[in-house]
Amino acid sequence: MKLFIATQNANKLKEIEAILHVPGLVLQSMRDRPDLPEVVEDGETFEANAKLKAVTIAAETGLWTLGDDSGLNVEALGGAPGVYSARYSGEPVDPARNIRKLLNALEGVSDRRARFRCVLALAQPNGDCQTLEGRCEGRIADASKGENGFGYDPVFIPADHDLTFGESDPGFKNRVSHRAKALDLARETWGHLFAADEAEWPG
Ligand code: IMP
Repeated sequence: MKLFIATQNANKLKEIEAILHVPGLVLQSMRDRPDLPEVVEDGETFEANAKLKAVTIAAETGLWTLGDDSGLNVEALGGAPGVYSARYSGEPVDPARNIRKLLNALEGVSDRRARFRCVLALAQPNGDCQTLEGRCEGRIADASKGENGFGYDPVFIPADHDLTFGESDPGFKNRVSHRAKALDLARETWGHLFAADEAEWPG
């Protein structure tokens, strides 16, 4: 099966390509189709935004399409930055400024619990769409540490570990992250579709 990955985010794409190995599955992405429009993510939930990306790009490409919408929920901030994770400190998107804002908001706060969430949406060109979710529980570090990964990785410490994702080996992140868990579930749930020939696809 040929599956289109609907993301403009090169870091997400790299992780998805590293994790999603299914025999017979060929991945295509925005890199192969720079002409595709940017999808405006104006949904109020990760699920709505993941669907929006997958359904829009599936209709444009005529291919089954996987959309990823993800972000960070911080307990002491009532779930913020949530769907606004990318633009938490305003536009243009600036991950270092986002981290500074987050650390300032948590200054003196002892409850550092947080989770990364990743919703994946699989859409057919006819608009049918299913979603699933992966989560990674953890906590926010006191300071930004490490250069690996992207976004909030330098301040996110996964549960039962001491290093941030920024300090960790990318292979480790790709085993335990919200994206890894969502992609594991995707393989379990949709693996039969991913491995199928075009002629066997439903819909
Ligand atoms: P969107 O899904 O493109 O709307 O943006 C997701 C935003 O959430 C990213 O720009 C990051 O700020 C954050 N995010 C999502 N996944 C990760 C991750 O794996 N590591 C660090 N930050 C992430």
